[in-house]
Amino acid sequence: MEIKLDGRTAVITGGSKGLGLAMAIRFAASGADVAILARGREGLDAALPQITATAKGKVMAVACDVSKADDIKRAYEAVMAGLGRIDIVVNNAGQSRTGPFETVTDEVWQEDLDLKLFAAIRLTRLAWPQMRERKWGRVINVLNIGAKAPRANSAPTTISRAAGMALTKVLAGEGAPDNVLVNAMLVGVIVSDQIVRRHAARSGNITLEEQIAEAGRGVPMGRMGKAEEFANLACFLASDQGGYVTGTAINVDGGMSPVM
Ligand code: NDP
Repeated sequence: MEIKLDGRTAVITGGSKGLGLAMAIRFAASGADVAILARGREGLDAALPQITATAKGKVMAVACDVSKADDIKRAYEAVMAGLGRIDIVVNNAGQSRTGPFETVTDEVWQEDLDLKLFAAIRLTRLAWPQMRERKWGRVINVLNIGAKAPRANSAPTTISRAAGMALTKVLAGEGAPDNVLVNAMLVGVIVSDQIVRRHAARSGNITLEEQIAEAGRGVPMGRMGKAEEFANLACFLASDQGGYVTGTAINVDGGMSPVM
């Protein structure tokens, strides 16, 4: 199936690396104008040529810390000035933060909720009215499989992710009459920049390939996922072909989640 996003404009948070970058490349190659948001200018500048290499439309990169309300507003205005509209919002920026419950301070809870939940609320709320008005919109919330099956010692991440799933369902109900479709994609373990960073921080002489293989052994399919595999599904959900799918939380995890 050839998936086309011609004439659409997408904003992808955390679009400079990992899954966000893979989605940006896929969306742009499928015809969408794409804006990527991330904090680091260096990462954004490195990502731009990778996206434009196969892009059919415009691509822009905006420095933004999505955990800050003012930054999101400024980034939204920059995207509107640069691309003129937003049809697709991908709330992807995030990082894992976990620990035993009694060690998680108020500050850590707040930071995690700001980065994962409030970022999605704030960016979606800004783009929502124009999507409803044009009777076409897509919101994709990138979460993790802990949202459905939270384990011990997985706070605050899984709590923020579960809230993201509830947000997805509420928005799906409100957007459906206006053809604004809202879905969540739940990540298991997928090779990304985050994995490379974790390897660099790890002591011992295990290679990156060995670490990836090791993580893959815990997955029923026997391997970690590829960012491109994740981007393929995101592209489908963002397209007209995904036009009757809303309010779902799809595991993209090689069978890893114990919950459907
Ligand atoms: P990466 O670390 O590879 O990339 C993260 C991206 O988000 C970067 O572009 C980073 O750029 C950006 N980012 C991080 N914090 C912020 C912030 N405060 N504001 C704006 N941008 C930010 O992550 P992945 O691609 O692996 O992960 C993508 C999403 O999937 C995340 O939400 C992650 O939690 C989730 N996930 C991934 C898993 C995996 O196996 N890969 C497992 C479970 C969940 P910069 O640092 O410059 O801001």
